[in-house]
Amino acid sequence: MPKINTVLVANRGEIAIRVFRACNELGIRTVAIYSKEDTLSLHRNKADEAYMVGEGKSPTDAYLDIEDILRVAKEHDVDAIHPGYGFLSENSNLARRCAEEGLIFIGPRLEHLVMFGDKINARKQAELAGIPMIPGSKGTVNSLDEVLAFGEKCGYPIIIKAVNGGGGRGMRVVHSAEEAITAYDMAKSEAKKAFGNDEIYLEKYLQNPKHIEVQIIGDTHGNLMHLFERDCSVQRRHQKLVEIAPAFALPIEQRKAICEAAVKLMKNVDYISAGTVEFLATPDGKFYFIEVNPRIQVEHTVTEQITGIDIVQTQIKIAEGYNLHGPEIALPQQDELTTIGHAIQCRITTEDPSNNFMPDTGKLITYRSGGGFGIRLDGGNAFTGSVITPYYDSLLVKATTWGLTHQIAITKMLRCLKEFRIRGVKTNIQFLENVLQNPHFIKGDYTTDFVDNTPELFV
Ligand code: ADP
Repeated sequence: MPKINTVLVANRGEIAIRVFRACNELGIRTVAIYSKEDTLSLHRNKADEAYMVGEGKSPTDAYLDIEDILRVAKEHDVDAIHPGYGFLSENSNLARRCAEEGLIFIGPRLEHLVMFGDKINARKQAELAGIPMIPGSKGTVNSLDEVLAFGEKCGYPIIIKAVNGGGGRGMRVVHSAEEAITAYDMAKSEAKKAFGNDEIYLEKYLQNPKHIEVQIIGDTHGNLMHLFERDCSVQRRHQKLVEIAPAFALPIEQRKAICEAAVKLMKNVDYISAGTVEFLATPDGKFYFIEVNPRIQVEHTVTEQITGIDIVQTQIKIAEGYNLHGPEIALPQQDELTTIGHAIQCRITTEDPSNNFMPDTGKLITYRSGGGFGIRLDGGNAFTGSVITPYYDSLLVKATTWGLTHQIAITKMLRCLKEFRIRGVKTNIQFLENVLQNPHFIKGDYTTDFVDNTPELFV
């Protein structure tokens, strides 16, 4: 069984620090990488060692420089690489090159990165497993005529999606044949720009769904289970802002059916490591597959809070070859796993909600955070004196609260948000407070269009 002694995190910010913390507790030596622009970033100080990568490259390309990252790994006695989320996390080339260099990739098998990185292929796998599917195009769509024919057949609205899309980008909702004419070209060029591939496909656009996703964990011994579901319907333009677990507003039978569907799909493909199966649930009690994310997700913290399971440490131990139910991981069997209470995660960002969520940059003159019982903070570059640059995503710190009831978790989050003192850059804290106090949020009675259709959240 390979024992991991040193982990390099091919990432930055919050998730790099999250993985270093997991490693520290396991007695694993940690190596950070950083771009020139991140010379003063916190994540490099949270690792035992840190090395610059991608010299001469753009701030983003530095973290995508697979060969330079492998150079650091080889020069510094690294035996495993954790990709975090974003950047190279779903890039099959990193996993392939790790295998070639004899390094452990902490994540799923290469074949699963390839399988789920292509959303049409992901749909095929879900269909094979007998999961309910949103009506969609058979494969890629290569002409406007095909878009128009699909719109005619399924009825508008429809959604154009990039085959390699992710992070809420590369999608376009189309309400009519006239709109399709411009949307088709724009979707293709956006996909090309964002993902280097202009292939697109189509789905019927569902009205008022909830985004429900299931955390999956599988080992190399054929054990695979779910860690229950999350409700990530608080979104702005298809990007998640606040996530909760469990999805208490849905009937328990529906939640069970969704979790079982996720397990069925992932067992069918013999998945290993952490992954998420995403669904849209409609008010008529039905649910439909949308995609699989074969990596750790930003919102994994809410699942950790209600199950007590450290998902990142579990990923590492799975990569070392341990059994989910052995003494090293010690997960109970599926039917014995329960949840306790409710958790909420807020993504605190340096964005200005009054100005279309424009990212703000500059020096944090003051940074004081909330704290106390039931509050967990996963910070990125969050400290007094840090400089928020325009080069990367604007996530400053994730606040996750836990309470025996959803209302207690809300009360704790509101207190936590009020305790924050952040000066020097604008943040979305007031917006988050508005969400948490909204009667629909309190009742769990909201769908993915809640934020976009609730202008009072923005004041
Ligand atoms: P990404 O990989 O970019 O996150 P997803 O396929 O997961 O894209 O979709 C993100 C969000 O977009 C969903 O949570 C939902 O709000 C919306 N969405 C995606 N597909 C549909 C659809 N067919 N109907 C309605 N909303 C959709």
